[in-house]
Amino acid sequence: MATHKVGGEVDAPCTRCKLTLAHTILAMVGTKIARVRCNTCGGDHAYRAAPGTTDRPTASRSSTSRASSTPRAEKPEKVVISFEEQLAGKDIANAPKYSPKDTYQVDQVIQHPTFGLGLVSAVRGDKVDIAFKSETKTLVHGRGGASTEKPAFSPPSARQTGPADKPQPLAPLATETAEPSADAAAPKE
Ligand SMILES: [Zn+2]
Repeated sequence: MATHKVGGEVDAPCTRCKLTLAHTILAMVGTKIARVRCNTCGGDHAYRAAPGTTDRPTASRSSTSRASSTPRAEKPEKVVISFEEQLAGKDIANAPKYSPKDTYQVDQVIQHPTFGLGLVSAVRGDKVDIAFKSETKTLVHGRGGASTEKPAFSPPSARQTGPADKPQPLAPLATETAEPSADAAAPKE
């Protein structure tokens, strides 16, 4: 077996040429070749033993790309308390069926024909965020009641959102906007 030395030649796979070519040994660590220069392209690179030599590197390029197998340690859902726990203590039996015409309040339980039981998590104007078992949906509410279209800023006037046998947390105060009633409007002739 030939003894390698700095300045000697060795066959090694060139990273640029992607071929096993003659290289000039630039540096050695002990008896091992550390760095070589490709005689073909002149590029310096760390020595990798050619296929068929003692170190037996993987013939293909799979050794570098295969190493990253990141296990999925993260849980898909970040639920602190389960949906059932959220609904526990709620008045599920009296949960009204969801209707865009009804008006809902935060913490209210509703029954949706498609998504099932849901817990109102936020009310934003005529939109409600309702947490269902699988995901949170944003639905409309307060679209019914009066026959006339109300201005967007008008709060829902209906209070009949179910039995008030428990304190309604943070119910938005209904500012009594003076709407022209039908009686006040004099009929035209
Ligand atoms: Zn080369």
